[in-house]
Amino acid sequence: MNIDEIFDFTSFNIDREPHIVLDAGVCVECDSRGCTNSCPARCYTWNEEERKMTFVHDGCLECGTCYVVCQRKAFTRWRYPRGGFGVAYRMT
Ligand code: SF4
Ligand code: SF4
Repeated sequence: MNIDEIFDFTSFNIDREPHIVLDAGVCVECDSRGCTNSCPARCYTWNEEERKMTFVHDGCLECGTCYVVCQRKAFTRWRYPRGGFGVAYRMT
């Protein structure tokens, strides 16, 4: 099963209060930007022309990869969503 197929078995109850808050200013000086190619939900987008990072939490799969790969810990908040919110996986 690839990542696009996973979304077929996934639903979200999106919390308007983001569970991850990124300090995008830190990303400007980052030399790896490993989040952009390791987040399976593609929540991180780097715009080289504008030298700007955009993060959208809506499709987050709560895998924890970005927290591990970000050596600068560029988060002002990183936690799992509040109870009842976030991703739900359906395997049937
Ligand atoms: S790895 Fe961390 S500091 Fe670097 S671009 Fe991603 S979130 Fe920003
Ligand atoms: S927890 Fe996983 S899916 Fe969510 S933003 Fe981080 S890398 Fe992407």
